[in-house]
Amino acid sequence: MIKDSSSKSLAEQPITLLKGVGARNAEKLARLGISTLQDLLFHLPLRYQDRTRVQPIGSLRRGDQAVIEGEVDLAEIKFGRRRSLMVHLSDGTGHLYLRFFYFSNAQRQALSRGVRLRCFGEVRNGPNSLEMVHPEYQQIDPDQPLSVEASLTPVYPTTEGVHQLTLRGLMQQVLTRLEQEPEGLQELLPQTLLGRFRLPNLAQVVNYLHRPPPDTDQQQLLSGTHPAQQRLAFEELLAHQISLRSVRAQHQRIDATPFATDNSLKQDLLDSLPFTLTTAQSRVVAEIEQDLSRSQPMQRLVQGDVGSGKTVVSALAALQAIGAGSQVVLMAPTELLAEQHLRNFSLWLQPLGINTTWLTGRLKGRPREAVLEQIASGQTQLAVGTHALFQEDVVFNDLGLVVIDEQHRFGVHQRLALREKGRRKGHTPHQLIMTATPIPRTLAMTAYADLDLSVIDALPPGRKPVTTAVISGQRRDQVVARVRAACAEGRQAYWVCTLIEESEVLQCQAAEETERLLAEVLPTLKVGLVHGRVKQEEKERVMREFQSGSLDLLVATTVIEVGVDVPNASLMIIENPERLGLAQLHQLRGRVGRGSAESHCVLMYHPPLSANARERLAILRETNDGFVIAQKDLEMRGPGEVLGTRQTGEMQLRIADLVRDQGMLDEVREAAEMMLETETRAAERLVDRWLGERTDYGKV
Ligand code: ADP
Ligand code: MG
Repeated sequence: MIKDSSSKSLAEQPITLLKGVGARNAEKLARLGISTLQDLLFHLPLRYQDRTRVQPIGSLRRGDQAVIEGEVDLAEIKFGRRRSLMVHLSDGTGHLYLRFFYFSNAQRQALSRGVRLRCFGEVRNGPNSLEMVHPEYQQIDPDQPLSVEASLTPVYPTTEGVHQLTLRGLMQQVLTRLEQEPEGLQELLPQTLLGRFRLPNLAQVVNYLHRPPPDTDQQQLLSGTHPAQQRLAFEELLAHQISLRSVRAQHQRIDATPFATDNSLKQDLLDSLPFTLTTAQSRVVAEIEQDLSRSQPMQRLVQGDVGSGKTVVSALAALQAIGAGSQVVLMAPTELLAEQHLRNFSLWLQPLGINTTWLTGRLKGRPREAVLEQIASGQTQLAVGTHALFQEDVVFNDLGLVVIDEQHRFGVHQRLALREKGRRKGHTPHQLIMTATPIPRTLAMTAYADLDLSVIDALPPGRKPVTTAVISGQRRDQVVARVRAACAEGRQAYWVCTLIEESEVLQCQAAEETERLLAEVLPTLKVGLVHGRVKQEEKERVMREFQSGSLDLLVATTVIEVGVDVPNASLMIIENPERLGLAQLHQLRGRVGRGSAESHCVLMYHPPLSANARERLAILRETNDGFVIAQKDLEMRGPGEVLGTRQTGEMQLRIADLVRDQGMLDEVREAAEMMLETETRAAERLVDRWLGERTDYGKV
């Protein structure tokens, strides 16, 4: 092939080079993420139509999309609920009706007995026989037989103002261009990789997916498992992996203050605890100690199921930084959780002479200024709070470690912003991120490739698994009786009202109503209420009372989902659990089973329960293992829910699917390593191709 020096990469050629694309169309296409010819090529069909052969009418089944040919036997107007033109068509193998709700007189006259038609449409069940509603059709001239399509017809995702046929037309143009200059779509994967993973060539793959030959297995294409799709999925995952790994590599070039292990503080805390660390906790503590003693910032994600004891692990990390004279900040996603951390840390660290303060959005005026002063002067050694800790005017004297609890609520951008915030004299604070959303390891290593990973994979000894029951709301009386019985034995209970409406106000009202009703039917019990709109002081008071045991029953919204720790609470009722994800239910349920008593969770659903919901709730009944639940959640709801922002906001995949393509993740990681070592330029371009504008997290 002659190399034309003017031939440019399709990635650099704007879409306006195509016939029929002016400024207005370009704007509309931009809404589909298409601005270059390469973008257009990567705009893949959602599904396909088979117009490659004419099908015998007798072979059609409901739901088929098919091309048929036949002769009109009869065309008549039917006056049913809606007037329609019914055309009876047969081809010798069978017959069906074409139904038109909208038709002109001319149309009706043209569709007369004896006329031969070619139609394309979806086959449906009509009142008497199969039918096609508003099919595409054309009349056949016996002297000029019609041809059929050479390949399957693509159906593309579209947007308002961009017609399917327009997209098909544009695709024809760009595919023709690709045929003429196949090097315009540069193969960025090195030959060794293509050979090793038996990956087909990129230009071929793209061409194939836009025009699959008639014998293609459509089922395979629909499920995304065709080798051509897998080839692209691999490349896309590889691009994300490379991007996250470069974020990680950048961390390694940043300076941080190394902290020597402070054994005496550590020992003092350990001695004061009413328990000893589990082996899993000790292992993770050691990993963190190692990280903190280095002069590059730690970026470690600690995963541990609810109740695995992450808090004390973070306290030990804090001691190492504080012992070396640095400040530590601990950030929680909700005020409730921040308060509880404050209680724990004060309990643990105050006896060691460590100065702890507290900052949330509700702190205002003079008290807030006082706190800011203490933080700025360095008097505060540990600051606990919500994201309010990272407002503009909060200045640290010498921030050495940032601990983020329940990180699935914070995105990577927020984390990087926090890191910037703590940066001082060229030194960046260490970061420890804790999450109770267990993600299968391979998936975690892919989605969090920018972080080091520790797993607390065992619960403290003596925990009794929570017994879970799934009960219809029609048996509410029995459920109330269980609450009465548990509290009569001196135990405490939670009653969780879940989101009925999207509105927080309505949700809080529902919780208030529930509290009123429960207080009425349980007159001997002391009932408390917390939800998002309860005033700060009130909330603190209620939580304190529940913690100390002076309240028997706590009615709450899902605000208590994370972190709350009251070991004497042994019963939890969750209303309408079918509305929540498995991971969230598991989190909620994790509020009980923290003490030595037998604990129970009642999932009180609102009947009727769909088959899918039934199956999901059954999983909770069957297992208490967060990893098993996460895996099921992943299979049933997809990675978006499980990974939180990581999937929905940041790691947006166009072709790959982290669940479907789990099997290739190990190879993707290997390939990323290899490319980052030996093919840096191609690696960069790969990230550009797949993440484009969205690579800001790779650049911070
Ligand atoms: P999570 O990992 O869900 O944040 P927490 O840190 O809140 O868990 O710990 C749950 C409970 O277990 C707390 O009451 C905590 O004091 C207790 N705990 C932590 N580690 C141990 C241990 N090794 N042995 C016994 N109890 C522990
Ligand atoms: Mg916790």
